[in-house]
Amino acid sequence: MPELPEVETIRRQLNQKLAGARIAQVDLLRTGRESPKGKKFVESLRGKKIERIERRAKLLVWRFSDGGALTTHLKMSGRLILVGHNYQPQKHDRAIFIFVGARHPPSPRLRRTSAVPVRVVWSDVRQFGYMKVVAKDELVKILGAYGSEPLESSEQELVERLKSPKTRKIKVALMDQTNIAGIGNIYADEICFRAKILPTRRLASLSEQDRRQVAREIKKVLREAVQARGTSADAYVDARGKAGAFEKKLRVYGRAGKPCVVCGTLIKKIRLAQRGTHFCPKCQT
Ligand SMILES: [Zn+2]
Repeated sequence: MPELPEVETIRRQLNQKLAGARIAQVDLLRTGRESPKGKKFVESLRGKKIERIERRAKLLVWRFSDGGALTTHLKMSGRLILVGHNYQPQKHDRAIFIFVGARHPPSPRLRRTSAVPVRVVWSDVRQFGYMKVVAKDELVKILGAYGSEPLESSEQELVERLKSPKTRKIKVALMDQTNIAGIGNIYADEICFRAKILPTRRLASLSEQDRRQVAREIKKVLREAVQARGTSADAYVDARGKAGAFEKKLRVYGRAGKPCVVCGTLIKKIRLAQRGTHFCPKCQT
């Protein structure tokens, strides 16, 4: 599933193009994962001006100039892709959004607006993703339910997030969106590897030094992954339809049975909290 770096990549690409644009039309091709449903969804979006596109955890927030927003969660396999005017809808497409008044491509710095409409396709093979139009009050509530944003929090704040509940395993704490926001299965494994901590370690067993090390790697790994435009496991592509480059930098995720890049020991895979979990039994303690 797209995690913080993937969603952040999509956010940047869409925001660069669509901040200031207006929704001219929404073609809803497949109903069921939008709110309000059907025609109401289309009608509540028509004419809305996008002030900017933000991200909270793995949620995209299209902020409208009237204080409301469209929230988008891509879940397992959702995609948002900028397409040309001659785009032909495909099997798993849910909706096509047509924006006017977008910044002129390909130079966003010029801030010129374009008369050419910009199209964004929302597609989702596994259909877990959703879009929801929300008013200001509801938006505040939704955003408030998430924990610390790792790239915007201090190292100390993240250290505090790794203390309780004491019996909780470190990987579970990392993936709890109400604790730290935006980390999923892939980056949790990578963070634990780089911090040299076993994902099964309980929070109470970590030293202050361990916690600091994990906090540092949270920021480092996520920053690197954003720079690489994410990881293309699970068929992720960015808003330009391109794969992310962080996949080549993965050290444990998806490498079960292969030699550790540091010590050569074979990477192990176990189940932890119903998720495939990868680690080096020698480097991580
Ligand atoms: Zn190793």
